[in-house]
Amino acid sequence: MRFWFATPLWQRVIAALVLGILVGYLWGPGAEAIKWIGDLFIAAIKMLVVPLIFFSLVSGVASIGDLRKLGAVGGRAVLLFVITGQIAVWLGLGLGTLFQPGAGLDTSTIDVGEVPQSNFTGWTDMIVATVPASPVQVMADGAVLPLIVFSLLIGIGILMAKDEGTPVARVFDSGSVVMQKVTAIVMELTPFGVFALIAWVTGTLGIPALLALGQVVALNYLGCFLMIGLVYVAMLKFLARVPVVAFFRGMVDALAVSFSTASSSATLPVTLRCLERNIGVGRSVSSFTASLGATINMDGTAMYLGLATLFGAQIFGIELGFSDYIIIAVTATLGSIGAAGIPGTGLIMMTLVMGSVGVPLETIAFVAGADRIMDMMRTTTNVTSDATIATTVAAMTGALDREELVSADDV
Ligand code: ASP
Repeated sequence: MRFWFATPLWQRVIAALVLGILVGYLWGPGAEAIKWIGDLFIAAIKMLVVPLIFFSLVSGVASIGDLRKLGAVGGRAVLLFVITGQIAVWLGLGLGTLFQPGAGLDTSTIDVGEVPQSNFTGWTDMIVATVPASPVQVMADGAVLPLIVFSLLIGIGILMAKDEGTPVARVFDSGSVVMQKVTAIVMELTPFGVFALIAWVTGTLGIPALLALGQVVALNYLGCFLMIGLVYVAMLKFLARVPVVAFFRGMVDALAVSFSTASSSATLPVTLRCLERNIGVGRSVSSFTASLGATINMDGTAMYLGLATLFGAQIFGIELGFSDYIIIAVTATLGSIGAAGIPGTGLIMMTLVMGSVGVPLETIAFVAGADRIMDMMRTTTNVTSDATIATTVAAMTGALDREELVSADDV
């Protein structure tokens, strides 16, 4: 027991990850028997999302101090979201064109399974849905985008009220600290949850699923590694000027949770905790940037949408011109913004992208079998992007405590 708690959490998480893969591989589909432990962990972490976003975002905006500074943080974050998103989607298109993963593939041997349906009803509906008609309903439903809009407005209201808003700001500050403590309790479940989820994924999907879609999976991983290894590392090194190894060590809990849960939203409490405690990103910047990023900044998803659409075109022999590439880039970007940070939404958004350039939607059923394996990596990319941008914006706006990052050994 003492040994358990004496070992840093991140080391316990990594050990659980490795052990989980091994157990899942040896146990096979039977590993489903321990999936409930992972479900328990996800339920506990999801419980945190709404109160954490609400308290931390309002307190984050209020702590920025004045409206001009809010513009500086928000403007930079959104600009970086857009730039990294475009790099990601064109990287996916580049890899798909270069390696032609779908060329000469025999689609008849693949079990197509169930085709997911898009519940997308149009851009105007999507815009209307960001306004929280009933804030209480929004919280009950866990609808993150309107919750963010509502929290931002409350935060802006506090800033506008100046001195008279201070008591309300204090309530949110205190609520935010309490939620951090509750998060710390739930975090102790991480090694068990990560172990069970990884064992289940490895056991049920196994190696054959990897082989069947090997090329797309490999390209998806390659694209994500390039995003992390080149784009984010360059941003951390040259824009944020932070030690890259220390950064990734500080974020390892969030990366392991994102990889095993395949959900940016479920990972958000952990992302915030890592950013604030281990990287030294000020709460006002971390809560604002990472919460918004977990909802609208999905580079891994954007890259995957581009790659999968080209794959579909190759399987079904459809010629695509440069104008089609532009359409894919635009719809994939919008799709990744609209996708919720939960498992599998990237797959659902595919209907939108493929439909826009006439690629048969059967492609979705084809890739669905291995989606979870790819979802895990693209979610890790999404979370790394959020964390990188939060750190960069913090560095640019003087909200980064560099001492914290260097001394974060006992996470
Ligand atoms: N699962 C991803 C996320 O939560 C979204 C996706 O399906 O691409 O970030």
